[in-house]
Amino acid sequence: MTTIEKNLQTVQSRLAAACQAAGRNRSEVCLLAVSKTFDAGAVAQAHAAGQTEFGENYIQEAVQKIVALHHLDLQWHCIGPIQSNKTRLVAEHFDWVQTVDRLKIAERLSEQRPAHLPPLQVCIQVNADGGATKSGVLPQDALALAQQVAALPKLHLRGIMSIPEPAPDFAAACAVFASIKAVFDDLKATGLALDTLSMGMSADLEAAIHSGSTMVRVGTAIFGGRVKAD
Ligand SMILES: *Cc1c(COP(=O)(O)O)cnc(C)c1O
Repeated sequence: MTTIEKNLQTVQSRLAAACQAAGRNRSEVCLLAVSKTFDAGAVAQAHAAGQTEFGENYIQEAVQKIVALHHLDLQWHCIGPIQSNKTRLVAEHFDWVQTVDRLKIAERLSEQRPAHLPPLQVCIQVNADGGATKSGVLPQDALALAQQVAALPKLHLRGIMSIPEPAPDFAAACAVFASIKAVFDDLKATGLALDTLSMGMSADLEAAIHSGSTMVRVGTAIFGGRVKAD
């Protein structure tokens, strides 16, 4: 068994235990394998172990892997910041974009999505605690952007994602994740049909699942430590 296969089994066990502890069905939580800085061979190993959803931060690096692994049935999620001059690459190669935080980027993605592809699946990135990254809309601005994104023809708004600052312990992590879940619930209460709350990483996926996450983004616990900074 490869290290990646073993790691995936460990992560799957953590997910199952976290769902059970939270009284949730395992099928409510999608595992996104974050393969940034790892090569196409590592992604292929994870796929051989049953993994189909992959997240990437660096667009050019990602496109190389997406092209190289075109023969596999994979779903690729862009989870890194997107500059205007990269929207075309994203629109042409990815299945999901989780980091939309400006209307201008959303409009370009919609315009540039090739007609023969299904709509891009989109999450709005919400900056819940002002920390970790400066990316993301503030919670009070999420609804306006969500309504604008939902109206774009080649985008399908699925939910929100957030990258909060690492918390010191489980309770503190749950408090931040609960505030993100509240933003998600508020959006749904306005009538938006959303099903994706992307939060939680290797170190805090249990707290995220406890707090209602439907998608955890896990890199280190599957592929090992990254050499390159992120
Ligand atoms: C790198 C990254 C992850 C994965 O982080 P790990 O701690 O390695 O699990 C998740 N989400 C985003 C947005 C990332 O950039």
